[in-house]
Amino acid sequence: MTIIVPILGDQLSEGLASLRSVSRADAVVLMAEVGEEAGYVPHHKQKLVLVFSAMRHFAATLRSAGWTVDYRRLDEPGNLGGLTAELVAAVGRHGAQRVVAVQAAEHRVMEMQARWADAAGVPVELIEDDRFLVSADAFRAWAGTRKRLRMEDFYRWQRETTGILMVDGVPVGGQWNFDKENRKALPGGMKVPEAPRFAPDAVTREVIAMVEAQFPVHFGTLDRFNWPVTRAGALEALSCFVRERLVHFGDYQDALVEGEATLFHALLSTSINLGLLDPRECIDAAVAAIEAGAPLNAVEGFVRQILGWREYVRGIYLLEGPDYVQRNALGADRRLPAIYWQGGSGMRCFDAAFEQTRDLAYAHHIQRLMVLGNFALLAGVDPFELHEWFLVVYADAYEWVEAPNVIGMSQFADGGLLGSKPYAAGGAYINRMGNHCGKCRYSLKVKSGPDACPFSYLYWDFLARHEALLSKNQRMWTVYDGWRRFAPERQAEIRSDAARFLSALA
Ligand SMILES: Cc1cc2nc3c(=O)[nH]c(=O)nc-3n(C[C@H](O)[C@H](O)[C@H](O)COP(=O)(O)OP(=O)(O)OC[C@H]3O[C@@H](n4cnc5c(N)ncnc54)[C@H](O)[C@@H]3O)c2cc1C
Ligand code: SF4
Repeated sequence: MTIIVPILGDQLSEGLASLRSVSRADAVVLMAEVGEEAGYVPHHKQKLVLVFSAMRHFAATLRSAGWTVDYRRLDEPGNLGGLTAELVAAVGRHGAQRVVAVQAAEHRVMEMQARWADAAGVPVELIEDDRFLVSADAFRAWAGTRKRLRMEDFYRWQRETTGILMVDGVPVGGQWNFDKENRKALPGGMKVPEAPRFAPDAVTREVIAMVEAQFPVHFGTLDRFNWPVTRAGALEALSCFVRERLVHFGDYQDALVEGEATLFHALLSTSINLGLLDPRECIDAAVAAIEAGAPLNAVEGFVRQILGWREYVRGIYLLEGPDYVQRNALGADRRLPAIYWQGGSGMRCFDAAFEQTRDLAYAHHIQRLMVLGNFALLAGVDPFELHEWFLVVYADAYEWVEAPNVIGMSQFADGGLLGSKPYAAGGAYINRMGNHCGKCRYSLKVKSGPDACPFSYLYWDFLARHEALLSKNQRMWTVYDGWRRFAPERQAEIRSDAARFLSALA
C-alpha cells in the first residue's frame, strides 16, 4: 500500500510524528513549494528563501536516509500552486491509498487539511504535532475554568510538570523568575560577540535567484541573508549561542543598542519554528550550561522564553480560534502608517528597528514589543493591519506565534486575556534601555512642539484616550495619577502635539 506523507514547510524534523508512524517502504513523502503559501501574505524575501532552501535541504536529507521524496519546486512547469492541488495530484500519480500527515500549526492550513480527504478521495490521518512540549488537550485542561490565563502561572505549572530547573519540587535558586535582574542597559564599550555566519550555499543561492525573479516586489532585501537552512547549521547556531551569548542573555535581554541588531539574543526562532531544532534540546543545552558556569538568571530567562512564552502563546492561539486576530478591544482604527514599509520616520529607535527588519528579517523582542509594537499601540493603529505587517516582515513569523504576540501582548487588543496591562511606554523607557536617543532628531529634553520626542506625548495621549477603560485597571493607577497631576494647560499641550503628529503621520 502506498501512503502519501505530506510535509509542510515548517515540519522539517526527521523525528516528525508522521515519519515515525509509516515505513520507508510504503511511504512517498510529498514536499511542495507553492505560490499559495508564498503569497497568502507577501512574506519578506528572506522568509521565502529560508523556507524553500530549508525544504530543499530537508528533502535531500530524507532521500539519503532512504525515503522516497516527491519534491515539487515552485519554478518547475506544472507546479499546481496550492497544497491541496499538489496532494490530490500526488495521490493520483502514486496510486496512493492513504495520506498520513501531521496537523498544521495555523488555523488557515488546518482548515485546508480538514478538506483533504474529500478532495483526494482517500482516508487522511492527521496526527498531533508532538514537537510542541504541551499538547492542545493539556493546555485546554490547564486553562479549564481558570479566571485568568497568565503566562507566569502556565510557566510555573510547566516547570513543575517537566522538572526543568527544579530540585525536590522547588525552583533552582529559590526563585521562579529572575526577570528583575534582566533589565540592564548595555554598558558603554561592552563588546557583543558577532552572530555566527551562514554563507548561502549553492542550493540557497539558487533559491535566492528564484525568489528575486518571482517575488520582486515583496518587502525586504536579500544581500545579508544569514539564516541556517539545515539541521547541522541550526545546531551550530545553538551551540554558538550557548557558548558565546547565553552568559549575558539575561542581563541585556531588554537592551536597545544603536548598531547592535542581535545583542545577546539566541537567533534560534527561525530554526525552532521550521523544525530544524527541537525546543526541548534548546532548553536542555541551556540548562546543561549551568555546569559550565552560565548564570542562572540567563538560563532561567532563556528557558522561560521557550518553555513558557513559546508554548503559552501557541496554547492561546489554539484555544481562542481563528477569530482571535480580529480582536480590537481598544477600538484602534488608524491605517498602518507608511513608515512601517518605508522607514524614514526620523525617530531613531523606530528607524533602527525598521532598517534591520528590512535587511535581516529580524528584530529582537524588545524592538518588536517596545518600539514597533508600542508605537502602533500609542498611535492607535488597527491591530489587524499590524498583525499582517508582523506576519510579513519577520523570517520567524507564523500566525500561531505571531498573532498572540501582536494582538495580545503588544496591542492589548484581546482586552487583557494575555497581558494584565498594555505594554505602553514613553521615550524615557526607550532612553533608559539604550542609546538611540542621542542620535535622534527628536529630543527628550524638549517637552513640547515639533522637536519633542513623539513617544513621550503619544504615551500620555494614549492614556488620556483610554482613561475610561484603563484607569479601572489597578496596575495603571500610578500612571493615571501621573497624568492627573499635569496642569490642564500641560495636558492640552500634550494632546495637541499628539494630534499634530498623528495627522502628519496619516
Ligand atoms: C509583536 C511581537 C511579534 C512577534 N512575532 C513573532 C513571530 O512571528 N515568530 C516568533 O517566533 N516569535 C515572535 N515574537 C517573539 C520574539 O520576539 C521572537 O521569538 C524573538 O525575537 C526571536 O529571536 P531570538 O531567537 O533571538 O529570540 P530570543 O530573544 O533569544 O529568545 C529565545 C527563544 O525564545 C522563544 N521566544 C522568546 N520570546 C517569545 C515569545 N514572546 N513568543 C514565543 N516565543 C518566544 C523563541 O523561540 C526564541 O528563539 C514576537 C514578539 C512580539 C512582541
Ligand atoms: S528621542 Fe524618542 S523617538 Fe528619538 S530615539 Fe529616543 S525615544 Fe525614540
